[in-house]
Amino acid sequence: MSGLSAPSVISFPRLRLWLLAVPVLLLIAYLVLMDNGAISQTGAYLHELMHDGRHLLGVPCH
Ligand SMILES: [Zn+2]
Repeated sequence: MSGLSAPSVISFPRLRLWLLAVPVLLLIAYLVLMDNGAISQTGAYLHELMHDGRHLLGVPCH
């Protein structure tokens, strides 16, 4: 009869998914947006791919 609903609780599989997905997405964002080959030591092809990705996302780089 009460209008209050139980607080939503995130399930463990969903929490585990987010705990894995967030660092992976942050790593991808770092590699595309900021690394510029400094740590990843990517070759010319991958460097150009990341460079194009930066331009596609509107990140100023040069
Ligand atoms: Zn550029």
